[in-house]
Amino acid sequence: MPIEARIERIYEQVVRRNPGEVEFHQAVKEVIETLGPVLAKHPEYAEHKIIERICEPERQIIFRVPWEDDDGEVQINRGFRVQFNSVLGPYKGGLRFHPSVYLGIIKFLGFEQIFKNALTGMPIGGGKGGADFDPKGRSDNEVMRFCQSFMTELHRHIGEYTDVPAGDIGVGAREIGYLFGQYKRMTNRYESGVLTGKSPHWGGALVRREATGYGTVFFVEEMLKARGQSIEGRTCVVSGSGNVAIYAIEKLQQLGAHVVACSDSDGVIWHERGLDLDLVKRLKEVERRRIADYAREHGDAKYLPGGSIWDIRCEIALPCATQNELDEAAARRLVANGCVAVAEGANMPTTPGGVRVFQQAGIAYGPGKAANAGGVATSALEMQQNASRDAWTFEHTERRLNEIMSSIHRNCHEAAEVYGSPGNYVIGANIVGFRRVAEAMLAFGLI
Ligand code: GLU
Repeated sequence: MPIEARIERIYEQVVRRNPGEVEFHQAVKEVIETLGPVLAKHPEYAEHKIIERICEPERQIIFRVPWEDDDGEVQINRGFRVQFNSVLGPYKGGLRFHPSVYLGIIKFLGFEQIFKNALTGMPIGGGKGGADFDPKGRSDNEVMRFCQSFMTELHRHIGEYTDVPAGDIGVGAREIGYLFGQYKRMTNRYESGVLTGKSPHWGGALVRREATGYGTVFFVEEMLKARGQSIEGRTCVVSGSGNVAIYAIEKLQQLGAHVVACSDSDGVIWHERGLDLDLVKRLKEVERRRIADYAREHGDAKYLPGGSIWDIRCEIALPCATQNELDEAAARRLVANGCVAVAEGANMPTTPGGVRVFQQAGIAYGPGKAANAGGVATSALEMQQNASRDAWTFEHTERRLNEIMSSIHRNCHEAAEVYGSPGNYVIGANIVGFRRVAEAMLAFGLI
């Protein structure tokens, strides 16, 4: 069977076997449609059905999470952990707490995570988990009780050599603290390496909090360097205002860029004079408020309720909020407004139509798997420190992160060239990640 037809058939099987999981279908399609040239060079991958096997998670766990809210009412959520692939190391990937979570979201994230983690070059497999719990408006105590109930089930499925969860949307150091406390209590083990994204006060790595955002900006730096350009003096917009967005903005500002906008799910803050990052941090990290409140403290900033951040003129755009937040029309507006680089701090934020627009326009486009891999790579550095009972300095850890992002960029850039699509980081990232996983799967036999 011709390779293209074979890939098409695999995709149809995935759709049939995973009905309704549209984000998962999208993530699978985006990867496997770029693998034609690899299958042509390596017929052994097709012979051993490597793609078909990768598309089927090794294990999927779905569980009830009952908890009591502050009014004494019983609440029930659904928890997930999808252990997708463990040929390169223990399953590794974050937990997402958001009302939109269902199996299809966790599977798309887990599938992406396999290739992203492989790209880092660290010994980590791919997995993802979460729950349809909405932390918005919940008290600290409610979040604690939810995390304890969630871990009461999850603890039997994870471990430093088995599966190592971390944060994602809705899960930060506070949640990781409650989860770690409950894990320790249930297992009677101080097993630091079972979770990453811990507070540096009790086993967490410095730079983990900053890593996804900083890493995304390091990736932009590399993409621009490859074109003889730089970040300094550029006008930027960063969607979102969570952990990834905040530290992407911080690094852009440190490198002399001018960041004029960020957002949350309610609207956009546009501050032409340049964002006041201390205020964004206080509103989002300390007070857990909405970004609309920024405009109350800065009269010259505009708040655009329900607005699109991609309408704002910029040279660098970093989608750092959530999946499918940047569609084809938005991509066209960015390109028309003179945008030269886009890098994804979020997972799959650009729709397939949007990606096509960027590629046809020939701008530098860094897909999430490569551009946001700094977060999970620094999680692997946290595991390394935990395993050796060591704690590195901020400077040393940031240097390691920077080296990892440069090497991801170099590998993707080279692979894109070798496989006949120079400058195409989508093809480069998919091929490098896939080949690492495929080689290990071949070595392990039929598992
Ligand atoms: N949730 C992050 C990601 O999408 C980080 C996962 C981790 O650190 O394990 O890569």
